[in-house]
Amino acid sequence: MMNKEQFADNHFIRNIIDEDLAGGKHSFVHTRFPPEPNGYLHIGHAKSICLNFGLAYIYDGQCNLRFDDTNPEKENEEYVRAIEEDVRWLGFQWAGQPHYASDYFDKLFEYAVGLIKDGKAYVDDLTAEEIREYRGTLTEPGKNSPYRERSIEENLDLFMRMKSGEFPDGSKTLRLKIDMASGNINLRDPVIYRIRRVHHHNTGDKWCIYPMYDYTHAISDAIEGITHSLCTLEFEAHRPLYDWVLDNIPAPSAVRPRQYEFSRLELLYSITSKRKLNQLVTEGHVSGWDDPRMPTISGMRRRGYTPEGLRLFAKRVGISKSENTVDMSVLEGAVREELEESAPRMIAVLNPLKVELVNYDAAVSQNRSAPYHPNHPEMGERELPLSKTIYIEADDFSEDPPKGWQRLVPGGEVRLRYSYVIKCEEVVKNAAGRVVALKCSIDHETLGKKPEGRKVKGVIHWLSAEHAVPATVRLYDRLFTEARPDAVRGEDGNYLPFTDFLNPDSMTETGAWVEPLANSLPPESRYQFERLGYFVTDRYDHTPDAPVFNRTVGLKDTWQNKE
Ligand code: ATP
Ligand code: MG
Repeated sequence: MMNKEQFADNHFIRNIIDEDLAGGKHSFVHTRFPPEPNGYLHIGHAKSICLNFGLAYIYDGQCNLRFDDTNPEKENEEYVRAIEEDVRWLGFQWAGQPHYASDYFDKLFEYAVGLIKDGKAYVDDLTAEEIREYRGTLTEPGKNSPYRERSIEENLDLFMRMKSGEFPDGSKTLRLKIDMASGNINLRDPVIYRIRRVHHHNTGDKWCIYPMYDYTHAISDAIEGITHSLCTLEFEAHRPLYDWVLDNIPAPSAVRPRQYEFSRLELLYSITSKRKLNQLVTEGHVSGWDDPRMPTISGMRRRGYTPEGLRLFAKRVGISKSENTVDMSVLEGAVREELEESAPRMIAVLNPLKVELVNYDAAVSQNRSAPYHPNHPEMGERELPLSKTIYIEADDFSEDPPKGWQRLVPGGEVRLRYSYVIKCEEVVKNAAGRVVALKCSIDHETLGKKPEGRKVKGVIHWLSAEHAVPATVRLYDRLFTEARPDAVRGEDGNYLPFTDFLNPDSMTETGAWVEPLANSLPPESRYQFERLGYFVTDRYDHTPDAPVFNRTVGLKDTWQNKE
């Protein structure tokens, strides 16, 4: 269940909205989330989604989903569908139908014609290279293009012919006539249309000219009546252009949108760039965009993260203008905290050691049931049957224990979770001297009671060999061995490929024994394996006959001591 306390509060954007509402500037909050459909969404987008949809939720407003599809080369339908699914899975619903910047191509064209008629835009014949040269630098002003003073008639004629396909790709552009000497490079006659003969996933081959992002974004916001247009800080210097565009076209709606910027989320030991994530997929370093090691929303979903856990994370990282580089432990901490409450428990043995209970007697030795959650009796209980042979975790036994060891040793005692205290009577070894089994005796006086006259501190988990069912378990670890894999420089001072720092041990697959209930679980069932961590049945590979569990996160933070 969602509530208004689940979102970042006390941040500057909320203050701005509060003032806008109190001062009567707006009576309604309308935000948008504007992904480019050129890849799957990642953890950084989750922050932006929680902000935009969260504000709409808090202020009883609306949030649009708008595909910013002005770069047809890299965009496609698969990404559109994946993005919609991810937003919904995170718990949000956009207002009405999804919007597309490409829905506005006709209007954007009309506004461009209007700007030409007002003498505020011109067709330029400079090549991309020349435009760059003429642009100047941060310290030097740019130079006017020799084509800048074309007549309105000539500009209109050329722009129409650009549209109708008379000129080759890249040979002409439409530029705003602002100021080549502006201190803000974005205002030095920015290009707003270029000629590109590419098929568009939405408009097909209707267009061979495509509008540029800044121009498109401002007008799309205004058309949709967006009140607060929130983006990341790298767009701060684009805001004057955003405002210029809206100041120089007839207002598309009664709402005048404003742009506000916040800092981008970066996650250590991870990557938040669709382009680089795409590279991991296309070069086969991962199994796909939704590989459980990927910081994509679909990857984290498959890993077992919950929407609630991700929303809690987004709240914790907050919204500000200062650097937002976050340790993986913050993400895992939020996920773990939420699962602690929501995930039922079960028992699994990952590295089994066989234990024969020498005095097991079906007539005397009793079964116990175990609660699915220690704090949530409403989740119910299930029977945990005991039998002659059980599996325990091999590393819960030691012949040569370190100091403070509370688990099983030769001649020592330990409690089986939810069951009896047992004593190790004999260690069975193979010819190579390796421990292959234990023989233990049950103290039948210890079911639900403390043993007489002695203390048994250790409690270990176990499964009846006769009842346990096999499963495949995938253990995931960090994907990269470097905190900032895309910022490591080699001896020559250049960045090394971030793929040099992939962790070769980021996934291991192992067999395990689990409770029979695994055979009735649907995909994406989340459980805590007692003492081992949180696991989820794989979204794709799990079947009731052949259970597959992914480790979502361990029970304790393992990031701190790895540094
Ligand atoms: P990428 O570099 O991964 O392609 P992007 O910013 O180009 O990211 P878009 O699809 O254009 O991706 O982003 C949609 C929205 O998500 C934008 O408003 C953008 O500011 C926001 N966003 C993207 N990455 C992050 C991030 N790391 N932290 C916060 N917001 C982000
Ligand atoms: Mg982008």
